[in-house]
Amino acid sequence: LFVSFEGIDGSGKSTQARLLADALRAEGYEVVLTREPGGSPGAEEIRALVLQGDPDRWSAETELLLFTAARRDHLERTIRPALAAGKIVICDRFADSTRMYQGLSRGNLRAKVDALHDLMIGVEPDLTLLVDMDPSEGLKRAKARKTAEERFEDFGLELQQRMRDGFLDLAREYAARFRVIDGARTPETVAQDIRAALHGRLP
Ligand code: C5P
Repeated sequence: LFVSFEGIDGSGKSTQARLLADALRAEGYEVVLTREPGGSPGAEEIRALVLQGDPDRWSAETELLLFTAARRDHLERTIRPALAAGKIVICDRFADSTRMYQGLSRGNLRAKVDALHDLMIGVEPDLTLLVDMDPSEGLKRAKARKTAEERFEDFGLELQQRMRDGFLDLAREYAARFRVIDGARTPETVAQDIRAALHGRLP
């Protein structure tokens, strides 16, 4: 089972990915908790190239290629082997983040994003949990947590709102695998909702 978490910065998706991994492990499942960009040694190196330093170092197109290269490595080295071994893979962000961030935030590259995805990635999660959150709340949370060494764009509220709407559009586009989770509640309540969303899907 391949599960991804998506959402804007500060939505709480990383916390929820960890809580779900903990809960499933406590139930006896073998879980690989991983993240993008990154999730394999090579992809983590690419993450550092993209997220650290000058945000304008790469063009939007080059950045898309780097994210796609990172995802390909992550898929080959981490995700596919874990799924083949019967493990549950929980991934903090996957291709939907590229549809949003590389596809939307620095111009309209969605057609190129989709073409590269078809050519080089070709898989989607079985289930995508969109942790939905009001951007002003998400921004507050995200800013409280940013570390200096990473290139976290100082996303303005307007862009966060576009990203939120974009994720909700994606959830409609890929309705069969998406579940929208209201993230504006206590982490425990959100986690219970998420655990319930997996009901009937576990091996
Ligand atoms: O999920 P996480 O907080 O680790 O993401 C790190 C940063 O990378 C975020 O600011 C996010 O907006 C950005 N990002 C991106 N394109 C992606 C994935 C993440 O610009 N495909």
